[in-house]
Order: sequence, then C-alpha cells, then structure tokens
Amino acid sequence: MSAARFGTPLSPAALRVMLLGAGELGKEVIIALQRLGVEVVAVDRYANAPGQQVAHRAHVIDMSDAGALRALVESERPHLIVPEIEAIATDELARIEADGLAEVIPTARAAQLTMNREGIRRLAAEELGLPTSPYAFADSAQQLRAAIDSGLGYPCVVKPVMSSSGKGQSVLHGPDDVQPAWDYAMSGGRVQHGRVIVEGFVDFDYEITLLTVRAVDPASGTVQTRFCAPIGHLQVHGDYVESWQPQPMPADALRHAQDIAARVTAALGGRGIFGVELFVRGDQVWFSEVSPRPHDTGLVTLCSQRQSEFELHARAILGLPVDTALREPGASAVIYGGVDAGALVYEGVDAALAVPRADLRLFGKPQSYRRRRMGVALACGDDVDQARARAKEAASRVRPRAAD
Ligand code: AMP
Repeated sequence: MSAARFGTPLSPAALRVMLLGAGELGKEVIIALQRLGVEVVAVDRYANAPGQQVAHRAHVIDMSDAGALRALVESERPHLIVPEIEAIATDELARIEADGLAEVIPTARAAQLTMNREGIRRLAAEELGLPTSPYAFADSAQQLRAAIDSGLGYPCVVKPVMSSSGKGQSVLHGPDDVQPAWDYAMSGGRVQHGRVIVEGFVDFDYEITLLTVRAVDPASGTVQTRFCAPIGHLQVHGDYVESWQPQPMPADALRHAQDIAARVTAALGGRGIFGVELFVRGDQVWFSEVSPRPHDTGLVTLCSQRQSEFELHARAILGLPVDTALREPGASAVIYGGVDAGALVYEGVDAALAVPRADLRLFGKPQSYRRRRMGVALACGDDVDQARARAKEAASRVRPRAAD
C-alpha cells in the first residue's frame, strides 16, 4: 500500500475525506487532515457541529438513512469515508465500499461489527477466544431474568446492544433491579432495538484504553500494529470524566493487553486508530469494547504524545508513517455544560490557562445540556498525579453559563 495522492483542496486534484460525524473528536481529526492539505467534508445530524466549523464543506443529514448517505457520497465523491460515530447506515457503507465508490476507514465490516455490542462481543469472545466478562443477550425482561438466574448472577451490568457511553446502562444488585434495568435500557438505547447484553460484573482494579494504530510501516510497506502508552480513566454513569497517560501497569498485564488489542484490531482490519477498552486486575486483562476510531479518553494525547491520536488517525488512514511515542505524562478533565441552554459563554478561560502546563479545548457546540461535554482541560506534569491535579484545577476554573 502506498501513501494517498496528495493534492490541492478545492481543485480537481484534491484528496477528499468525508467525516461521518463531526463532534469534538472529528474536529481534531479534521484539523490534522487540513494541515496536510486534504479537502474535508464534515457530515453531522445537526448544523454547526464542532467539526463542521473547521471543514471545507458541511452537510446535515440523517446518517442512518441509507438513501441520504448514498446520495451524499455520490455527489461529494470522497476518496476516504471516516466514521466518527456508530449510528450510521453501515450496510450502505458496505455497499459503497463493495461498489468501489470510496474506501471506508478502517473497513465497512469494522463499522458494521462495532455499531452493535453483539457483533463485536461475539467476534471477540466466540471467534477470537479473547477473555471477556461472562455475558448473554435478552429480548425481554423475562429473558433477562432467566439469563441472570441461569448463571450470570448479581451484580451484573445491563446495556442496550445499540448504545454507547453508558446510555441506558445499569448495574443490577438483585432481582428487584431487573424490570427497572430493562425499562431504562429501552428508554436509553440509540434506536428502539429491544435487545440488551447482560454482563457479569468485573471487579477490576482499573480500566484502560489501549490506543492501537494499524498503519503502513515505511520500511516494509505493509500494515503494522503499534501501541500508544495505556490511558487510565475514570467513568461516572458510563461517561468519561478524567483520563491520564501513562497508566502504570505490570509488564505482564501490559503484554496481555497488547496481545488482545493486536488480535481484535487485526480481525477488524484496515488502517487507522482503534480505542481498545480493557479491564485490569493484577496480571489479568479482560476485553470490554473497541472503537475503530479515536476514543474520547484519548483526548489526553493532545498534550501527552508526540502525535495525538487524531494525528495518528489522519496519518494512518492516508498511508503515512506514525510515531506513537509518549512525550510526557498528561491528563484530561471534562468540562460539562452544566446548564440546558443554547449558546454559552465561558468565564474563567484566562484563569484556567494560568494553571501551569495547562491547555483547553472548547468544542464550540451550539447547544448545551447539563451533562453534555462542551470542552476539556489538558495538562502535563512531572508525573500523572501532578498532571491530573492540574487538569482538574483548570477544568474547574472554566465556568460555562447561558449567553444573555
Ligand atoms: P461501556 O459503555 O460498555 O464502555 O461501559 C461504560 C463503563 O461501565 C465502563 O467503562 C466500565 O467502567 C463500566 N462497565 C461496563 N461493563 C462492565 C462490567 N461488565 N463490569 C464492570 N464494569 C463495567
């Protein structure tokens, strides 16, 4: 595989990339692509999404509508299609790829398998034999109760198969929790799917994201797998609030984690970055999930790595060499909207940036919700503890409020 043919944006010689989903992660990928002179089209379900504000062109469509997706790809004729979210008509992506219209990153099959918790869990556990929590699927509250009674036991975790970031997810401690968990899953899923996964609760010491890059190695010309330093993170209600890099871990556990990540990403194939989520206890490692794209906990790499996860993704998809080296310990802390409102103003940006080695990303989202991620504070330090303290301090100094 040779590198993409680089050209001039907005000319017939342009190298064109279409982002499907243009949130804060897509925005950083777009900025990385723009720096390499790539023409970028940003697609989202609402206008003025973060990535659309830095792209050459923006479109608002329902990306789960196969016809609308096909029509847009046929009119824009991108060379590469880069999914940034899961709620996409992935069967249409597979047809687009099969018809040779565009290359889907990393592959259309990877997008298909990972949009549904069932596809990726069965691949990881049943085909690849990777260690995971025990699990079952259920299509009703009765089936859910039966699955728990016949072996999974309590505590266990219920999640809609079509969901991410903890939406519709609950931890069950006893039989009285079954019906409420089912009802909550049905209200919180992305599309009304009526199916959940129930997982045995893993009593882990910590959880990590192992960013794994499949990129062309310049020496051999073949796709090789490289790992970033492990990222530790803290989740509240299934949503990440803080991340740091590197997460210290025993050599054996890191070896297991890399082995799991190499196998699952090889099975998904293609080029690009993958966020492999793993649970760790002692030397034991369990596979949890994988996203075939940059991961939200990887925002920390904007300050901690030589090349952020977004630059790594941009380079990998274009067939360019990558460098996954850590530069220094870093941390990220999320800034929530705190209010349900339209446009916000952000007070305290100056105070936040007065924290030593701190930086900010304000995503520019046009609408705020109390628990919507509107920005992130980043900080480096002599060690992870110092970086975390600085990132949290900087985040706390930013005070969003509704604009007058
Ligand atoms: P997910 O949406 O599957 O990434 O889950 C969100 C978070 O819930 C994870 O990052 C864990 O902190 C927690 N979690 C999910 N599944 C389990 C499990 N089987 N055992 C323990 N904690 C879990």
